[in-house]
Amino acid sequence: MYRKRTTRTVLAVFFLGASLPGVIFSAPQEETTLQTSEEPSYDIVLRGGRVFDGSGNPWVYADVAIKGNDIVGVGDLGDASAERVIDVNGKFVMPGIIDLHSHANSGFDMDDSDEREASDLARATVNNLTQGITTVLFGEGGSIWGEDSSIQDKAEEWSRNGIGTNAAMLAGIGSIRNKVLGAVDASPTPDQLEEMKALVGKAMEGGAFGISNALDYWNGHFATTEEIIALAQEAAAYGGMYVSHIRSEGTRSIWWVASDSSPRVTHLDAIQEIIDIGREAGIRVHILHIKSTGIPFWGRSRDATALIEKGRAEGIDITADQYPYTSSGPDRNTQLFKWEPYLGEAVGRELEVAERKALIRQRMEGDEVFATQLEKDVMHEILARGGADRMFVRAFEPDSSYVGRTLEEIAELREENLFETGRYLQLDNDAQIQSYSMIEDDLHHYMTRDYIAPATDGGAAGPRAHPRSYGTFPRMLRKYVLDEGVITLPFFVRKVTSLPASILGIKDRGYLKEGYKADILVFDAETIQDRATFDRLPDLTDAKLSEFIADGDPHQNSEGIEYLLINGALVIDGGEFTGELAGEVILRR
Ligand SMILES: [Zn+2]
Repeated sequence: MYRKRTTRTVLAVFFLGASLPGVIFSAPQEETTLQTSEEPSYDIVLRGGRVFDGSGNPWVYADVAIKGNDIVGVGDLGDASAERVIDVNGKFVMPGIIDLHSHANSGFDMDDSDEREASDLARATVNNLTQGITTVLFGEGGSIWGEDSSIQDKAEEWSRNGIGTNAAMLAGIGSIRNKVLGAVDASPTPDQLEEMKALVGKAMEGGAFGISNALDYWNGHFATTEEIIALAQEAAAYGGMYVSHIRSEGTRSIWWVASDSSPRVTHLDAIQEIIDIGREAGIRVHILHIKSTGIPFWGRSRDATALIEKGRAEGIDITADQYPYTSSGPDRNTQLFKWEPYLGEAVGRELEVAERKALIRQRMEGDEVFATQLEKDVMHEILARGGADRMFVRAFEPDSSYVGRTLEEIAELREENLFETGRYLQLDNDAQIQSYSMIEDDLHHYMTRDYIAPATDGGAAGPRAHPRSYGTFPRMLRKYVLDEGVITLPFFVRKVTSLPASILGIKDRGYLKEGYKADILVFDAETIQDRATFDRLPDLTDAKLSEFIADGDPHQNSEGIEYLLINGALVIDGGEFTGELAGEVILRR
C-alpha cells in the first residue's frame, strides 16, 4: 500500500455554497466533547449507532472508536473518552463504500496551482463523498496514467496533491495495445505480444490490481481471446485480476451494425468468453456494469446469471458489478447512424461529424443496396436501444417542440416511418437522443445475486456526467433497498463493502472491525436519497413510462450521508464536506 498520508483542508464550505447546490447543509448534530484532565483514549467515538460489520450480518447497537487511521474498538465502550464523541443514535453505521468501477480520476488529475482551491475541490470528488464512497477502482480499457507515464508517477502525483477518496488502479489493455500496435484491426506479432506482456508486468510490479479492457467498442473489439489470455496469464502471475467491459451486453456489440458480415456476438457469448479467459489464464475475472440491453434481450438476465453460476460451480472466480439505472452512457447519446462500419476507423476519425454525415448521405443517394442496408441497421439500432417509445429527444435546434418527445411520437407527428424520422433528426440534423435500453426486471435480478456489487461507472462532477456519478449508492439504498425491498439492507451493505474488498483482494478495508482502516459511513434511513435525475427527461421505470421530470438535473449531489470517515479523518461532518482530502493511493502488495 502507498503509505504516505496526505491531508489537506480546503476552503470548502464557502465554495460548496457557491458551486455545489446539492450539498446538504443540515444542522450540526448534537455532540459532546468530553472534558477530562487526562489524554482522551480515542480520536473519535461514534456512539450508539446501529452498526453493520459488512459481512452481511444484521446491525447491532455498538459504539465505534477510531484512533489515527484505524478502527480500534467496536462494542459497548461505556464512557470512553475521545477528542470528539458523535452521537449517532438512530443512524446506521457501516464500512465505507468501495466502488469497483469509477471514472472520477479526471477530478483527481486537477492540479492547477493558480486555482488551488478549485482544483482541491475537484480532487475531493464531493459527488462521490456524498454517496458514501471511500475507495474507488479505476480502469476500463485505458491506463489512467497514460501511455507515456507509470502507475508510480500517478500514485506520487495524487499523494502529493491530495485526493478525496482512496484509489486503486488497473492497467489498461487498450493503452498497452495502442502503444505497441496503434489503433488497428490486427493481432500482435510474437515480438509485439512479448512487449505487451512486459508492459503488463511493469504495471503489476508498480502496484496495479490487474488489467482491464473494453471489448464492446470499435477499437477494443480488435483484441482476440488468445491475445487477452496471454496478457491475463502475465497479470495472474502477480496475483492480478482481469476486468472487462465484455464484448456484448445484448444481441450484439455496441459497434456492430446489422449489415456487418462479421458474426454477431451476444451477451451470453461474451460471458462465455470471459469464463474461458478465467479458466485458460487461471485468473480471477470481473464483468463491468453487467446488464441486458435491447428489446430482444430483455429478461435474459436469468440466462446470463445461469451461465456465470455454471462457471462459478466449475471453479472460475467470476464476479460483476452493476449500476442501478435503465439508461446507459451510450444511451444518453444515442447514435442511430454509426460511421465506423461504413467509413472505417482510419478515414472516419480524421473527419468532422458533418463531413461523416455528408459522406453517408451521398452514398445513400448513389447506392440503393447501401441505402437498404442502412435502413435495416437503423431499425436494428432502435430495437437495441429499447424501442422508439423509449428514445427521447433531449435537444433539437430546428424545433424545440420535439424536445421531450419520443422518436415514435415525432414519427407520428411527421407522418413518416421511424427510419425517415431518424434520418431527419440525426443524419440531416443533430438531434441529441436519450434511450432507455434496459428494464427494471433485469436490474432487479442482477441485484439479487451475491457476486454482483453495485458500482457507479461514474465520473467526476461535470457537464457530461451521468446521474449515476452522483446518485448510484443512495439510489440503491432509497429505491431498491428501503422503498421497494428488492434486497435487504444487510445484503446491500455486504455488496458494497466486504464483497468489493474481497474481489479486489484488499485485506484491511471493507469491514467495520477492530484493526481495519477507519473508512466509515453513517447514514440516516429517513433522508438518504439520490437527487440527480436525467436532464429534463423521464426518469423511466417500467410502470411510469410517461413520467416527465420538468426540472430534472443530473448534477445534484445525494442527501443523507451524515458522516463519512476516510482513514480516520472526517470528510463529511453533519452532512457537510469538511474540506479534508484524506484519500490514499492503494497499491497491490
Ligand atoms: Zn463500460
